[in-house]
Amino acid sequence: MNINEIKQKDTEYVANTYPRYDLCVEKGLSSTCYDFDGKEYIDLSSGIGVNSLGFCDPAWAGAVTGQLNTLQHMSNLFYTSPCVRLAEKLSEITGCKKVFFANSGAEANEGAIKAARKYSFDKYGAESGRNRIITLVNSFHGRTMAALTATGQESFHNFFFPFLEGFEYVNAGNIGELKEKLEIDILTNGSCAAIIIEYIQGEGGVVPLDYDYVKAVAEICEKYDILLIADEVQTGVGRTGTFLAGENYGIKADITTLAKGLGGGLPIGAVLLGEKTADVFGPGHHGTTFGGNPAICAGAVEILNRISDESFLAGVKNKGDYIRKRLSEIDEVIKTDGMGLMLGITLKTKKSADVVKAGIENGVITLTAKEKLRLLPPLNITMGELEKGLDRLINIMKN
Ligand SMILES: *Cc1c(COP(=O)(O)O)cnc(C)c1O
Repeated sequence: MNINEIKQKDTEYVANTYPRYDLCVEKGLSSTCYDFDGKEYIDLSSGIGVNSLGFCDPAWAGAVTGQLNTLQHMSNLFYTSPCVRLAEKLSEITGCKKVFFANSGAEANEGAIKAARKYSFDKYGAESGRNRIITLVNSFHGRTMAALTATGQESFHNFFFPFLEGFEYVNAGNIGELKEKLEIDILTNGSCAAIIIEYIQGEGGVVPLDYDYVKAVAEICEKYDILLIADEVQTGVGRTGTFLAGENYGIKADITTLAKGLGGGLPIGAVLLGEKTADVFGPGHHGTTFGGNPAICAGAVEILNRISDESFLAGVKNKGDYIRKRLSEIDEVIKTDGMGLMLGITLKTKKSADVVKAGIENGVITLTAKEKLRLLPPLNITMGELEKGLDRLINIMKN
């Protein structure tokens, strides 16, 4: 098939849920990929923060294919080794007590919500009505019904009513509003089971939460036994220069969800359960057919072995600083938000969507996040690739 046939058949046969750019990538290695005409692109998007080690990292691909040729799947009614190795590794790195494996970010968040409600049910009883989940305005938690209900953006809520009961939204930065919503009383410690935050709102426009606000939220959660759920689907797995973004805030959430970067390009989600929720799930309480897939987990172990290394994470920070420095010299750039290699750029005159399109024409792949231009490069992008990609991007901004 050539590119025109692919485009035509995509329109004809694939559900029209994605506005696609005029590019079909054929292959890639490291942070460089090629279209069917052999044109080269530097990837500053990692998919959307998914390809943590770039395209087709040899050791990662070796781990996946090695496992594929050994055992590709066995049902969760049996033990398998890669998922145990991955869970142990996640526990060693993050201090979580147990892990539930899912297949996506939305599904990980569904699991976190279920774990939080089960914790509250077990401890306070159904009659307490202590089941509400509070999330932030401008958040993004995924497209399945509970994750979508949790998503605090009206634009995603069109069409699909009714949503789930027991979700409420507060504005980030306003502790007074949060306290009001909690309806604390001494019998039940209020009616709220959990608060979900993204330390840096990704789809919301790369908006980092204020340090003091996050600290205050964590204190309230601790005091009233409300679970703090950190949605680290985008910020986790080294993206911000620490393994979890919570480390930048000095916060350990009760439950953390991971997905995007964890599988290095294959679908996996994880619910990291802390002390309080480690044992809320018993047999039959939750599950998913593909969770903990051996091949994906074997690849994820390789990802974690590489990324959890201190010098690797320092490299993520340094490359982030380098990008900021290059961008700060450009008149078109008003400011750059974010941490590590999760960056949102506010432009002076250009529309970010136009810059992304021009980037594709000029051999560099970037993203938007709301009105900002967003960069999520592979964490192991080489300095050579990064310089080349930024040169192309900055050229566009200067014209
Ligand atoms: C992408 C994203 C999700 C949804 O992940 P899917 O794998 O698309 O379901 C949830 N939360 C955050 C913060 C995300 O960035």
